[in-house]
Formats: sequence, structure tokens, C-alpha cells
Amino acid sequence: NTIQITTPSKNYSVFIGENAILKLNSVLENLNPSPKNLLIITDENVGRLYLDKVKDIIGESFSYETIQIQAGDNQKSFENYYACQSFALAKGLDRTSVVLALGGGMIGDLAGFVAGTYMRGIRFIQLPTTILAHDSAVGGKTGINHPEGKNMIGVFHQPEAVIYSTDFLATLPQHEKRSGFAEVIKHALIADKKLHDSLRQNVRNIDDLSGDSLLQALNRGIEIKNEIVSQDETEKGIRAFLNFGHTLGHAIEGELQYKGITHGEAVAHGMVFALSLNENTEQIGNELRNWLKSLGYPPLPKTLSVSSLINRMKKDKKAEKGLIQMVLLKELEKPYLSSYQAENLEIKLSAFLNGN
Ligand code: NAD
Ligand code: ZN
Repeated sequence: NTIQITTPSKNYSVFIGENAILKLNSVLENLNPSPKNLLIITDENVGRLYLDKVKDIIGESFSYETIQIQAGDNQKSFENYYACQSFALAKGLDRTSVVLALGGGMIGDLAGFVAGTYMRGIRFIQLPTTILAHDSAVGGKTGINHPEGKNMIGVFHQPEAVIYSTDFLATLPQHEKRSGFAEVIKHALIADKKLHDSLRQNVRNIDDLSGDSLLQALNRGIEIKNEIVSQDETEKGIRAFLNFGHTLGHAIEGELQYKGITHGEAVAHGMVFALSLNENTEQIGNELRNWLKSLGYPPLPKTLSVSSLINRMKKDKKAEKGLIQMVLLKELEKPYLSSYQAENLEIKLSAFLNGN
């Protein structure tokens, strides 16, 4: 299956399905100018599992270099960004070269940022390998973390194509399935009540996420993302709705130094919190909390400090004039932005964390 992504700066295809990776050479052959060489950026887990397969597919068709970095979101760092740039320079990549981002959202964001800034921007292709990456590989946000905050440094840089080979998902550990599934739930909550209801019905165990029903959910998630990004590529308006659950989610990840909890697991707590802030969605929030618990989403550590979380939320890119911006829902499919004084939100967050 192919989904066409349309943004003001670029249109490109998402090739999604079992063995979609076999399309890699034909996608590369259609690039103009033809790439002098490729730089494959991957992490050690994905490298161990899939690098040989990708190399076999490329074969002798293109020359390539490979850089493998450690796995983990704390590797979306200045150090690795610098290492990739140095490697690219040392290997003589030029402005015709193409970066292949083989991995989950961490690699996609890092490699996309490397590509977006190397010699003022070269082309890249996303080869996502996680469920979460149905979200991160589409839409052109790239970047790295700063110790002061997640995704603080980056550029908008759209890929030439996304090749989403869903056979790669078979090796995902359960907590990574949970992480990615949280973004699927996000897409459903903000834009597709039917998808939400059917997921609630059908996903009773995290391992139920496989085969055709997973493929359908990923397709739908990508379409929803496209509908939003095509209208607002650089987040002047409605793209902000995609941050549903992320204001608190990012703060949790930051407080835990991107370790011990996955992005999506943190966002899952953020979504339940956001739903608790409007009385119309409180019930949906409670149901979501119970459902997530039954799927094995971990509770938050009791050591989290409310005031530190609030401080991080104040530094969020969306915060304005000291007010914390949250995406809430009026009801399913009806997101809106709401601003909070830090003190008021602190009281609500404190109650929320105590009740958890
Ligand atoms: P990730 O890339 O760190 O992957 C999670 C873990 O799974 C890693 O340990 C990785 O090595 C391993 N892994 C990846 N693919 C595998 C496979 N097929 N089999 C076995 N193991 C595999 O994390 P992620 O959850 O994919 O992405 C999270 C990142 O995405 C965060 O940094 C987040 O900020 C970013 N993100 C970006 C956007 C965007 O629009 N750019 C959107 C959402 C999230
Ligand atoms: Zn996210």
C-alpha cells in the first residue's frame, strides 16, 4: 500500500506493508540527481537485526557507508549528531548523497537532523522499524534533545520517501509495542472515534497488535497525521493537536532522563492527565487509564516531583508568556488548546499523581 503525503514543501510516498523494504533500490533509482553515496544511520539493536538485510538489498547498486550508534532516546544527542556529521565529512558525502534512517523515532529524528543540516541540507529516506515511527517518520520534524529539554534543537526537513516494512515490527519488545501503540491511540482520540472504539474492542493484550489489524491502524494513523501536517507543516496552528499527551509526557521523560520509560508510555500518562482536565472527557480518561493498565503500561514512579515536572512544562516549546499550553479534548475527535497558569496546573497535576 502507498500513502501520499502532501505538504507545502514536499510531496512524498509512504510505502507500507510486509517486505516494503524491497522497494528501496527502485526508490533510490528514481531520485534525481542520483546519489553519489548513501549514509545508513542505525542503532545497535536495529543494526544487529536488519542491517545485513538492507545491505543485501542495496547490493552493488549504490555505494554506502554505515554508522551505528547506541540505542536509547538519550542517544538523540549533540555528541551523536556531531559524530554523524564528522563521519559524513570523513567519508566524503556531498550534496547528492542520501541518508537512510534505519530505525525507530530516535534514529529518524537524529538522522533527519543530520541530513537536514549537513551542507545546508541533503536528502534522506526514512526506513522506520517501530510502531511509534508511523508517527515520527512522517511530517518532517527532526531533531535532538538538549539536557534542558526534549527535541529542543532541530529543523523541519521532509524525507524523500518513507519505506515502512512492517515485517520489521515482529521483533519489537512489548514495551516498545506499548510505546508505539500510545501514538496510535493518540491519533484515534484526536481524530477518529471509530478507530478508537475498534481498538478498545479488539486490543485486549498488547500482542493482539499484529497482522492486518495493526497494519490498518498504522495506515489510518499515517493518514490522520497527513491530514493535519498537510494543512500546517510548521505548526502555526492545528499541528499542535498532535502534541496531545505530550506536554506532560515530555516532562516525565525529561525528569527520568529518557530512561526507564518509553516515549509512548510517558505520553500515555499525559493523555490520561489531559482527559482528566475537562469534565466531559473525565470518563474517557478513566476508561483509558484502566485499559492501558490492563495492557501492561507501567505506573509512574512515585519519586517524580510535581514542581520539577511543572518547571519542565513551562519550558515546553509551546509554552507562551509563562502559561502552559495543553491540548485537551471537548469530546472524542475534538481537540483544542487550553492555557494554564503554572500554579493552577500544579494543583491539578498533584491531585492526578496522588490518585494514580
Ligand atoms: P527508538 O527509536 O528509540 O526505538 C525504541 C527501541 O526499540 C530502541 O531500543 C531500538 O533499538 C529498538 N528497536 C527499534 N526497532 C526495532 C525492531 N524492529 N525490533 C527490535 N527492536 C527495535 O524509539 P521510538 O519509540 O521508535 O521513537 C521515539 C522517538 O521518536 C522519541 O525520540 C520521540 O521524541 C520521537 N518522535 C518524533 C516524532 C516526530 O514527529 N519527529 C513524533 C513522535 C516521536
Ligand atoms: Zn510522540
